[in-house]
Amino acid sequence: MANPYPHIFAPIQIGPHTLPNRLIMGSMHTGLEERDGGIERMAAFYGERAKQGCALIITGGFSVNAAGQLDRKSASFNTPEIAKAHKPIPQAVHDHDGRILLQILHAGRYGYHGNIVAPSPIRAPINKTVPREMTAEEIEQTIADFAQAAVYAQQAGYDGVEIMGSEGYLINEFTAPCTNHRTDQWGGSFENRIRFPLRIIETVRAATGPEFILMYRLSVLDIVEGGSPLSEVRDLAQRVEAAGVDVINSGIGWHEARTPTIAQAVPRAGFAWATARVKDSLSRIPIAAVNRINMPETAEAILSQGQADMVSMARPFLADAAFVAKAQAGTPQLINTCIACNQACLDHYFVGEVSSCLVNPRACHETLLTWTVTSAPKNVAVVGAGPAGLSCAEVLAERGHHVTVFEAKDQIGGQFRLASAIPGKQEFDETLRYFTTRIAELGITLKLSTHADIETLKGFDAVVLASGVEPFVPDIEGINHPSVMTYADLLSGKRKAGDRVAVIGAGGIGIDVSVYLTEGDSHSHLNPDAFRRHWGVDQPADNPPPAREVYLLQRRSGKMGIGPGKTTGWVHRLSLLKAKVEMIPDVVYQRIDDQGLTILSGTEQRTLSCDSIVLCAGQTSQASLMAPLQDAGIPVHVIGGAKLATEVDAKRAIAEGIAVAATL
Ligand code: FAD
Ligand code: NAP
Ligand code: SF4
Repeated sequence: MANPYPHIFAPIQIGPHTLPNRLIMGSMHTGLEERDGGIERMAAFYGERAKQGCALIITGGFSVNAAGQLDRKSASFNTPEIAKAHKPIPQAVHDHDGRILLQILHAGRYGYHGNIVAPSPIRAPINKTVPREMTAEEIEQTIADFAQAAVYAQQAGYDGVEIMGSEGYLINEFTAPCTNHRTDQWGGSFENRIRFPLRIIETVRAATGPEFILMYRLSVLDIVEGGSPLSEVRDLAQRVEAAGVDVINSGIGWHEARTPTIAQAVPRAGFAWATARVKDSLSRIPIAAVNRINMPETAEAILSQGQADMVSMARPFLADAAFVAKAQAGTPQLINTCIACNQACLDHYFVGEVSSCLVNPRACHETLLTWTVTSAPKNVAVVGAGPAGLSCAEVLAERGHHVTVFEAKDQIGGQFRLASAIPGKQEFDETLRYFTTRIAELGITLKLSTHADIETLKGFDAVVLASGVEPFVPDIEGINHPSVMTYADLLSGKRKAGDRVAVIGAGGIGIDVSVYLTEGDSHSHLNPDAFRRHWGVDQPADNPPPAREVYLLQRRSGKMGIGPGKTTGWVHRLSLLKAKVEMIPDVVYQRIDDQGLTILSGTEQRTLSCDSIVLCAGQTSQASLMAPLQDAGIPVHVIGGAKLATEVDAKRAIAEGIAVAATL
């Protein structure tokens, strides 16, 4: 059968090199760059992806000098010793005929240390420190430092470099009018503002020769007030091409932009249009589209519609090392899809943990998290087909155990399936599709609509209790009033909400439910045009009125609506504000009756005359089978929400499932 993705697998010329496909593994800072033993782990991480068909990989960013560091601990690429130490990384990729570029950057005013520099002394809104204006000598030295870093990359065996010219880092600060107020030859006119990147490209090319791949990350859309207009972006693309770059990668939005660019609120391929606007200004070299492209059909559509020549994906290669191989085999149903949650990748990076992936905890842990086929296959029962049970069953079966999964509901997924009803979380269905395919492929016995009890489980060699959680029902006067429902009742479709709704509990689920309740017909998370209108990207924002009037309540005081995600909290809060959700902290719940919900808010008593009340007040573990199993002498392992309801999320549930399965 012909491959369903002819455009993805059409070979492409990058400088003097021909690549077998048009997918790029985009740059991600993994946190391994700065870790002891990080080189070996990065070699395993990138090598595994090259082995599975990834033809062009870009590393995380390395600064070219000390001033350009992101923080004082972040990795640089500025000595021969570093170059020598890196040799195993390109070697691991070359062993599988892949190519790998080192990303070189200068953080400019986004650096978090005492000596940050920029074209002009203008503070970034996301940084407390005002940068020092670079002298002309420092500018020349920085250009030389980019070239030196590229030479070191070449010595290390890298096939080229990606010069980071986007996201609001130093190069971008030179090109954009809002951050470059210089009056010398490096500022003012367009010609002067683009002098810095062009000189870097020319100097790097001269130092590394024609065989070395030069990729330039061009900010095709700044999304900041006073950013580069489209005409300048197109002109810069042409000039970058003429200066000796082999391929352009797109950058979307500066880090300070208050528009989501990769979060779940962004529809698939939500920014491909921004690359398409630049593409026809180029005469010779290819340009890659980026952001929220997570399945082959999306990449294929971008290429077949001529929006870009290549597609760069980063997080999808954390989620599945074999993305390319599976696309090439025409088996997209086997791809473990990135769900754009940021929970184990970006969120980890921002708290100093090694990045990984919620749906694939092996990512960046390839040398640590391994399992082998068992020499003593067991009959194992897994109770519950939520994320914990599913991930456990998959690895148990991969190891050769005979696995039976019991699920009380008529579908797999547990709480995770409920989550997929939330706008933006429709991607969770992909994870459930993945597990459905794996269950069939691995010959796992799945018994749906089967509530496992102690009798069902007798005769198994071991039981994994993954029976999860149920919504917690708080003790409030009138809690049995007909207006009250749990989030599970609402999201499963068992109950409908009225026009005025109070949401009790403002954790991750309360926020999600509020978004669900207020979402009208805009579908901005599904449609790139609707997304642009909703968030006012390159056009005035146009928000339809919210579908319902919603109060979001919590007992604690303090800022609300942020939720658990380190990198996504601001998106949640902005979404709630756009939907005019009234967020009320410091609440004492007094009573529910026909008048609505009466609360004390601080010292003020209020009756919220709502027609529905949705309980999002946490969860309780469902682990009642534990004691009978132990009494019956059946070895039992408890994982996920069944083990501990507090703060259980799919990341923990999946990781625990795999950890137990790897050792059983
Ligand atoms: P569950 O998902 O509760 O699954 C347990 C399963 O066991 C259920 O299917 C149940 O029917 C079954 N079961 C129970 N008892 C038996 C029995 N005796 N026999 C057979 N079957 C049984 N997490 C994130 O990480 N990121 C998010 O963005 C996120 N968003 C969420 C949004 C919403 C609206 C909701 C509701 C949850 C969200 N979560 C999110 C949380 C996540 O879904 C849960 O933490 C996760 O599903 C817990 O997994 P689990 O397998 O431990 O339990
Ligand atoms: P949660 O974050 O613990 O929130 C529970 C909420 O209920 C809190 O707002 C709490 O606030 C309130 N509450 C607790 N006990 C209460 C009581 N007795 N009476 C009234 N209110 C009470 O948990 P969750 O929202 O249920 O989410 C469950 C898990 O799923 C979490 O681990 C979360 O991380 C995960 N999740 C993640 C995401 C994501 O986007 N990453 C989204 C959804 C869920 P007060 O005590 O202040 O009232
Ligand atoms: Fe994608 Fe979430 Fe995995 Fe990050 S953690 S790669 S966003 S699925």
